[in-house]
Amino acid sequence: MKKEKLSLFIFIDAFGWEVRQRHLSFLKDLTLDSRPLETIFGYSSACDPSIISGLTPAQHGLWCSYYYDPENSPFKWTRPLQILPDALFRRGRVRHHMSKWIKKKCGITGYFQLYAVPFEHLPLFNYAERKRIWEPDGLPRGKTVFDRMAEAGIPHYVHDSGVPDNLRMERLMTDIQDQRIDFAYCSLGKLDALMHAEGNDSPSISTLLEWYDQQIRALLATAEENYEEVAWYCFTDHGMHNVVESYDLIAEIEALGLEWNRDYIAFYDSTMARIWIFNDTARETIVRELSKHPKGRILSENELKTFGVYFEDGQYGDLIFLMNSGVQIAPGFMGIKACKGMHGYHPADPDSLAAIASNRPIPPDITKIQHIHRLMLNELGIQETS
Ligand SMILES: [Zn+2]
Repeated sequence: MKKEKLSLFIFIDAFGWEVRQRHLSFLKDLTLDSRPLETIFGYSSACDPSIISGLTPAQHGLWCSYYYDPENSPFKWTRPLQILPDALFRRGRVRHHMSKWIKKKCGITGYFQLYAVPFEHLPLFNYAERKRIWEPDGLPRGKTVFDRMAEAGIPHYVHDSGVPDNLRMERLMTDIQDQRIDFAYCSLGKLDALMHAEGNDSPSISTLLEWYDQQIRALLATAEENYEEVAWYCFTDHGMHNVVESYDLIAEIEALGLEWNRDYIAFYDSTMARIWIFNDTARETIVRELSKHPKGRILSENELKTFGVYFEDGQYGDLIFLMNSGVQIAPGFMGIKACKGMHGYHPADPDSLAAIASNRPIPPDITKIQHIHRLMLNELGIQETS
């Protein structure tokens, strides 16, 4: 016997509006409605919590991964590792294993990557996504759809970030066949990784999207066999830019003659530098250097407020310097070398746009990625309260 209703929310990381326009056959005949969505300024660490809560980073508290907080740093114990040679940690595989080990030792259950953060600086920083956000109570502030489903006792599937895309879909398929769930949230990460490595016009994108298309069609067909009603949404959190240039901002800041950890601390993400400034001289020097800069610009308080990423206490930095679109900070703390593709540039760029497609009409007031939360509650029949 068929079960009543299944709502499927399938998240393809970085499958933004521009890439979608170049691959229009994707689920085409099954799609009733689709549209671009405005992204959130930042990375998946900011976008994902916003999608599942309907809140901006300033509201839920999660923006970038690392922030200056030496007192509460979970990485204090890594100090002795600083004596090990730097070259060792620059090796991808070593860092990958170190990431896993540090994550476990710090008791972090959320998404964790060591990236290329220098070991000697690690004890100065705290990590925002300490908890797995896909479970109840996952956010520092506010509720997610997972809190709401736990309260209402709704059986659901959510992906395990530790396993590859094919296994995520296999497990979802089993849950659908067994009619075990009413709702699914399945995030798929392969396209994001591919475009970081090869850029947003790589020929391999078509092959991967064809594979996603087949897998999702199979899921939907099985869902139709097992449920009276199937609502599906295929969406993403951001697009992807091609990187055209790398820029050594670290060397530039270091040449200013300021002292690290006395005058300032900086975290160099791929597309922005976030700087904590400890005195007026340092502020003047840094602002003078970064004002009218050919490769980027300082974001104003107003812009940060408009983006929903303004933090009164400067948690994620006193000064935010955004790189021009297509310019990546390299070497940086997120990677030693520049990638071919990167996201996290100005949200108004066409290549930044996210997207959504569905077999349902998408209401006109769904224009930003955080509005997906409302769609999820609507499908679940849960009232939007807080
Ligand atoms: Zn990415």
